[in-house]
Amino acid sequence: MISEDELSRYKRQIMIFGKEGQEKLKNAKVFVAGAGGLGSPVAYYLAAAGVGSLVIADRDRVELSNLNRQILHNSSNIGYEKALSAREKLTALNPDIEVIAYDGTIDSSSVGMIVGDCDGIVDAMDNFATRYLLNETAVEKGIPLFHGAVRGFHGQATTIVPGETGCLRCLFPNAAPSEISPVLGTTPAIIGSVQANEVIKYITGRGRLLTNRLFIWDGLEAESTVMPFAKNPKCTVCAGKK
Ligand SMILES: [Zn+2]
Repeated sequence: MISEDELSRYKRQIMIFGKEGQEKLKNAKVFVAGAGGLGSPVAYYLAAAGVGSLVIADRDRVELSNLNRQILHNSSNIGYEKALSAREKLTALNPDIEVIAYDGTIDSSSVGMIVGDCDGIVDAMDNFATRYLLNETAVEKGIPLFHGAVRGFHGQATTIVPGETGCLRCLFPNAAPSEISPVLGTTPAIIGSVQANEVIKYITGRGRLLTNRLFIWDGLEAESTVMPFAKNPKCTVCAGKK
């Protein structure tokens, strides 16, 4: 049930998808993998929209050089666990939701436990090793994966629905090299917002998802393009899986 306070808090979006849509958000549990540049806008907007349960995982501590883009954290949080800093800000924004913070590494031994019974996984990572692990877990458990990645002024996003669409490995058979990449804060702001928008569309059943399509953002040209892609019948992760 949606309370009077919730009716007021979510008034402007209930105008879009009704109390029924709001209840779907309230009953949803979403895992945001990473509390950095992408995880910040994703988690903020999902919390603001009233996603009832958020799991946020990050093993790092806040550093000064994070603050040009990781808006969940501020100068007084330097040295503090990012997952806990994120929970503090998200709970302050919306005390009606549950935020579960995991201050540890997402690896093959922890990922199943962290993902649990989540309805969606948001890839807000900065490395392909963890992205591939999230992709494999999503395909195995049949949970949608909302991918995002950024570099400099450029970013990309796609939505993977196991059994219906190609997976991250279909799209990127080989990992991009691991590096400390340049990032302007506005790039993850844009891509993270696209990811959060996809999560909200998926949960409320509105609109057309970025399935089998890669959204590509070029901030220097202020242009976006959408590139279609298909499931790879020989994919090492999703081929033959329903
Ligand atoms: Zn695949």
